[in-house]
Amino acid sequence: MNTAFISIGTNMGDRQEYLQLAVTSLGATEGIKSVETSSIYETTPVGVTDQADFLNLVVCVGTELTPLELLNECQRIENELGRVRTIRWGPRTADLDILLYNNESIESETLSVPHPCMRERAFVLIPLTELAPECLDPVTGRPFREEPAMQEGGVKLWQPGKI
Ligand code: ATP
Ligand code: MG
Ligand code: MG
Repeated sequence: MNTAFISIGTNMGDRQEYLQLAVTSLGATEGIKSVETSSIYETTPVGVTDQADFLNLVVCVGTELTPLELLNECQRIENELGRVRTIRWGPRTADLDILLYNNESIESETLSVPHPCMRERAFVLIPLTELAPECLDPVTGRPFREEPAMQEGGVKLWQPGKI
């Protein structure tokens, strides 16, 4: 069994409902055997700042899927939730990004793992380290909880506990 961490973000419509649907869909996916979520956090947008606040969480899955199969399933769920691809980093109903897959380092045309931006994103690091406080960066060997971006503002606990 493989362990993967997936970040889910949404800032359109009923955000909590989209998170719930994304988590439920992951759990119902063939080849995904277990799903555990962090609390839900609310995040001020970074990059394109002229948009609504996000809800973010991180999910830990136990899976028999390969990394590319998992990416395909994430993209299927994004499509099923009606994500319209307009501008990158723009508003979306659901964004599912693979953060980590075991301790692997993957660089392909369609998939980079660890997710290349995860070390700079408090909205990823905070829920990830809530779920897995001892989690180590497979590339640097450092604990994610020691990343400086953990200290950035803009991320607040919105709904404590697992969904
Ligand atoms: P960011 O990747 O900076 O968070 P984004 O999530 O808005 O931006 P998307 O439009 O969701 O970007 O994805 C663009 C492409 O990124 C996807 O088509 C996918 O092939 C690729 N990609 C590369 N690595 C990953 C990964 N670890 N998880 C998800 N998608 C990835
Ligand atoms: Mg993303
Ligand atoms: Mg994405």
